[in-house]
Amino acid sequence: TMQVFMPLNFLGFVYREIRGALANIENLFKLLDKVPAISDANNSTSLHISKGKIEFKDVSFHYRHDRPILRGVNFNVEPGQRVAVVGESGAGKSTLVKLLFRFYDVSDGGIFIDGQDIRKVSQSSLRKAIGIVPQDTVLFNDTLYENVHYARPDASEEEVKQAIRLAHLEHFVESLPDGYQTMVGERGLKLSGGEKQRVAIARVILKRPPILLFDEATSSLDSQSEGAILAALREVAQGHTSLVIAHRLSTIVDADNILVMHQGRIVEQGQHSELLADNGYYARLWQHQQQEANE
Ligand code: ADP
Ligand code: MG
Repeated sequence: TMQVFMPLNFLGFVYREIRGALANIENLFKLLDKVPAISDANNSTSLHISKGKIEFKDVSFHYRHDRPILRGVNFNVEPGQRVAVVGESGAGKSTLVKLLFRFYDVSDGGIFIDGQDIRKVSQSSLRKAIGIVPQDTVLFNDTLYENVHYARPDASEEEVKQAIRLAHLEHFVESLPDGYQTMVGERGLKLSGGEKQRVAIARVILKRPPILLFDEATSSLDSQSEGAILAALREVAQGHTSLVIAHRLSTIVDADNILVMHQGRIVEQGQHSELLADNGYYARLWQHQQQEANE
């Protein structure tokens, strides 16, 4: 009987480990060993957020030696600013987010939050300060309610439901057989890309971290829900520092600064009207999307 129960116990252990890690969902990557181990420095301190300023100083990065991805990237996000990153697929936008969250360490240069090198602070304090709506959201084999609740385990039921409301998931939840208690994930109800994105959005609304990263956070939503959710996200980001990777340029025209990436470099930056006036790469991307929208 031992042989039968051991593996079951072990699976239970793994499952609990994963659940435990989910307060910080992104730790799952570590558990799954997808990423080379990043470890805390011996004398690491806790990240201390005073204002929420982000600095990339001469950051270069490669996943593999023979293929540089980011080349000498420099930019700042001032406290409370909303800065957008645009550029074609493969330009290196998501890599910026992964480096800021420290899935990987930079190959050269450094990333600083409120003056602290992120390699010198504990990963747990870094990840507590940052909320991500990723390009692909992972759901866990648990109820829809718990999938949101993980983001801040000490939140009350009312707060969890409020986050679900603000993410425009409430009607969807009401349509489910078991409502909030419906099992989702691989072994439960499969959610569409847009529904999963709204779960991720509900998580950051609940977590309300000082720094927010959105990686094409509304790309799977139809334009009607996109507008409403962008408004909710803007409300959450109010007064917080945010870095927004945008697929549709129309969603970031009012950003404080727009970084235009091409092949791992920032080739232009400025506000929408300035970039249009420069009539360069951004202006071409904009015209291209305007044409697509009119077709
Ligand atoms: P974007 O978000 O702008 O589309 P990414 O930052 O995702 O671009 O990717 C930049 C480049 O890095 C792409 O060429 C991509 O193929 C490569 N890349 C992304 N992730 C990895 C990885 N884990 N290993 C190797 N190459 C990767
Ligand atoms: Mg990307």
